Amino acid sequence: MKKKILIVLCIILCLIFGKSIFLNKFEDITVSLGYMRFSIDTIESIIQYGDYSVIGAHYPVFEGSDINNDILKLIHKNIDKFNDTFNRIILLDPIYKSELNIDYEVFKPNDDIVSIKFTIFENMNYYAQPKIYIETLNYDLNKDKRIYLNNIFRGDYLDELRSYVSSHSTKLNKESFSNFILDKDNIVFFIDKNEPALKIPYVKLQEYIRPGFKNVETVETFVPKNPEDYDIIARDEMLPNDHGKTSRVISLKRPMVALTFDDGPYTRATIPILDTLKEHNVVGTFFVLGNRVEKHKDIILRIVNEGNEIGNHTFSHIQLTSLPKNKIKEQLDKTQLAVAKVTGTEPKIMRPTYGSYDEKLRASINMPMILWSIDPMDWKVKDGEKIANYILSKVKDGDIILLHDIFVSTADAVDLIVPELLNRGFQLVTVSELYEYKGEVLSVGNIYRHIYSK
Ligand code: ZN
Repeated sequence: MKKKILIVLCIILCLIFGKSIFLNKFEDITVSLGYMRFSIDTIESIIQYGDYSVIGAHYPVFEGSDINNDILKLIHKNIDKFNDTFNRIILLDPIYKSELNIDYEVFKPNDDIVSIKFTIFENMNYYAQPKIYIETLNYDLNKDKRIYLNNIFRGDYLDELRSYVSSHSTKLNKESFSNFILDKDNIVFFIDKNEPALKIPYVKLQEYIRPGFKNVETVETFVPKNPEDYDIIARDEMLPNDHGKTSRVISLKRPMVALTFDDGPYTRATIPILDTLKEHNVVGTFFVLGNRVEKHKDIILRIVNEGNEIGNHTFSHIQLTSLPKNKIKEQLDKTQLAVAKVTGTEPKIMRPTYGSYDEKLRASINMPMILWSIDPMDWKVKDGEKIANYILSKVKDGDIILLHDIFVSTADAVDLIVPELLNRGFQLVTVSELYEYKGEVLSVGNIYRHIYSK
């Protein structure tokens, strides 16, 4: 009965959040619906956790295509630009770190063509408003060649395109129209960050379209996938009832610690970490990024099935202190929805990206905020033994340990610390279990770093 209520609740949530996400994108995304998400090889992220400047850049990787070079060029160009600007900063602030965040969406109007839209969010701590840019890449995967406007149009197409823009039309040159994506029926331009996307149906541009350019309009490959189409019931039934939890016996008299893993899941690190945890019949907490969930459904399910906990670590690893309230909500809601679509339940705890929080953030978040008491800087150290030694030299009852399941070296460290912690009598529990067993209730908007006995 309880399960049924949960399922119904999830469906309702999906319906509500699904809609609000489409309506609240950064830009005027009139193009969100009616696209097919293209299945990509993998998602990579560059995440840098500096004291005063942070970077989170996500990008897709396509198997055996030159498109990857163009993607990397775009990412690194923006990282270099950000670092140049940051290096001129005089005021450094650990709560409002300067930030670069790059997230992307992939669209595929037909079998050959792929359009990638990058949303580049740049916020220097002295900016009044973050700057948001759109950059796009269009590619013919069949020919393994980039698609430029000249490959699509011929003749006086620029004049024709200008006629669709009401303002400053005389200033617009070819460069102004260089950021576009291809829809099944339209070409969509991102001309200016202050302008909504300009969507022009191909039919209206018919006389300018090159005969050699594949008419995307006639290709029928699109199958829309709405949140409500998602088969939550089937997935929920896949979960074993015990969640692996009942087979563990926890003694309230023995010390406990919580291992936490941020920014994943990644096949290379999350899988070996799960293997280690399972081998020793212990659990941990995974603060996942929403934009990685759909691609790694199997890992997400495994995390839950083996009794581990999933926490919310935002959708695209953006620093929440630099966002207005509605965008903070969007970052968290999208992640809640992504996880619920796979597991049937929403995370109950969250971890703010880069550990940055302020009063506004505390007031905007309807979940307990989990920080940490031990940080071995695994992202910097990248040596399993050193990471393990650091943790083992500090650990005590009630600690929350920060790790990142991005790096193989972190997985190596977990392999070393788990048996040694068990050896020393520690019990490895999830964050929620840690507070539950220690008899403290996690409350909304509060910050938690550890739970030491008084
Ligand atoms: Zn993180």
